[in-house]
Amino acid sequence: MSAPNLLFWSFTEAIAMIQSRFSFLHAVFYSMAAFCLLLLLPLSPAHAAQSGFDQVPLPLTIAKPELALKGMLQQGSLIVGKTLKDSKVSLNDKPVAVTGQGVFVIGFNRDAKPEQRLEIVKPDGTKITETLVIAAREYDIQYIEGISKSIMQPNQESLKRIRKENAMIRKARESSSQHTGFLEKFIWPTQGPITGVYGSQRYYNGEPRRPHFGLDIAAPMGTEVIAPASGTIVLTHPDMFFSGGTIILDHGYGITSTFIHLNEVLVEEGQQVAQGDLLGKVGQSGRATGPHLDWRINWFATRLDPAFLIGLNK
Ligand SMILES: [Zn+2]
Repeated sequence: MSAPNLLFWSFTEAIAMIQSRFSFLHAVFYSMAAFCLLLLLPLSPAHAAQSGFDQVPLPLTIAKPELALKGMLQQGSLIVGKTLKDSKVSLNDKPVAVTGQGVFVIGFNRDAKPEQRLEIVKPDGTKITETLVIAAREYDIQYIEGISKSIMQPNQESLKRIRKENAMIRKARESSSQHTGFLEKFIWPTQGPITGVYGSQRYYNGEPRRPHFGLDIAAPMGTEVIAPASGTIVLTHPDMFFSGGTIILDHGYGITSTFIHLNEVLVEEGQQVAQGDLLGKVGQSGRATGPHLDWRINWFATRLDPAFLIGLNK
């Protein structure tokens, strides 16, 4: 463009040119802004919901900007927490696994001490210490008669079998997968009246024995047992000494469901199941006096009360 030509430009032509450049710049600006918004979308609250924490149906017990806890601070309960991404979490100095979104789960046993120390080390190194006050519960006493002598006093061969089976169960419950099925709203694994609850002290044929840790749901032999939440099958056994037909389902981060006294086991170890998938059929195998499903929940070796997960304990 030579200088003399500029002299012939009219004012309106100049404005038109500026306007066309301006609208071009506008177009560039808006498309870049839209692109940036797309990039920022994963950080928006809508995405935060994908962490699963917002789906947890338990009541909110602690709500702070850097630490939220859902659950009941009671013996046998499960607590789901959410903190900043890349934080480190520990309960009574034991490390707790945290998901990529900063979500974690912890649990308290039947006789948990009233004070539990939860510590969060944020990505910048600063600490949050929260003393969780766990309410004590009162447990029922249950008398069960009619247990056979061979079950009450296992012989040497049976004791060997019991030890082997207990080791298999322990190992299955140690599995710590990255599954997030524990964040789902759990559904009943079968339907029927509740005939046994968590924590009750049990007397078998009049002798005091270990407390009961499951939720017993009475149902006719052959009633379907379904997955209360998604996960991976980590143990199946057709007939264990005490528990009979047994399935352990890993919901991730140490949370497992155990289903016992089954008549039929219809899944295999390593199988992925979705919530509601058929797992097996109700039976009365092992130490059982009638057909029922005994459903247990663990956080690793810690035995929890399944009632918290289906909104029974309020
Ligand atoms: Zn039971």
